[in-house]
Amino acid sequence: MPANGKRTIVVTGGSRGIGRAVCIALAAPEEHIFFNYFSPVDPEGEEAAARETIAAVTNAGGEATGMAVNVTSADEVAGFFGQVMEQTGRIDVLVNNAGITKDTLLVRMKEADWDIVLDINLKAAFRCIQNVARPMMKQRSGRIVNMASIVGVVGNAGQANYVVSKAGLIGLTKTAARELAPRGVTVNAIAPGFIETDMTAALPEKAREAMLSQVPLGRAGKPEDVASAVAFLVSESAAYITGQVLHVSGGMYM
Ligand code: NAP
Repeated sequence: MPANGKRTIVVTGGSRGIGRAVCIALAAPEEHIFFNYFSPVDPEGEEAAARETIAAVTNAGGEATGMAVNVTSADEVAGFFGQVMEQTGRIDVLVNNAGITKDTLLVRMKEADWDIVLDINLKAAFRCIQNVARPMMKQRSGRIVNMASIVGVVGNAGQANYVVSKAGLIGLTKTAARELAPRGVTVNAIAPGFIETDMTAALPEKAREAMLSQVPLGRAGKPEDVASAVAFLVSESAAYITGQVLHVSGGMYM
């Protein structure tokens, strides 16, 4: 536990969807949440989204700081973690959540679409882990949660880049878990199924119906369903769990 009793939590992609729900689920007087976001298209709108996350965390009794940080930039990421360390002197939890899709069949997939998805979804998690590993090892405590996906385990037509990024994230989780375990740091992954966010809102109705027909619990997941699994993995109750993939998919994968 930190000297002032406050844990420092970092969530990537906290402006919307699952990342925002994670920030809210972790909001508590004894937590300071830092999250980042990035919007090349509509910076003003995204800052509004970030403000919404901050307001929701504050309403829940917590403290949140949002920063525009592109996770594909090693310099921006290092600067972000540098600011967090400067303000609080420690990092207790990292949730690697930022992610995108650029779906199309393999034969049509452009190299640029492959590269950007791998960079944001996988390499950025490596970058962030590198930034927190030393402080966490020094503290001899820390929790890292990587947001993978059910498709990283079972594959999915039309998502080769995304599937590979999520399968890679699972490999990264297991390797980091083995490397950091001796210093009391746990590393786990969550594999959400079909969750209602902006990411899935763009799916055609037929694709949605096909997805939902595969969910034994008979409904799409909510961001809060995923956030509560994150809250468990970063809690004291999960101290003896590391290197695992927790599926939050209404039973889509068993
Ligand atoms: P979302 O609503 O599209 O939100 C994505 C978040 O990532 C946003 O906060 C976005 O920031 C941020 N982001 C994207 N590119 C970034 C970059 N270059 N630098 C910094 N931040 C960036 O997505 P979501 O559905 O909540 O997904 C969250 C995670 O869960 C992703 O890793 C996704 O792959 C995974 N997941 C989702 C589902 C699902 O069904 N929704 C299922 C399995 C796994 P801006 O707001 O600034 O764009």
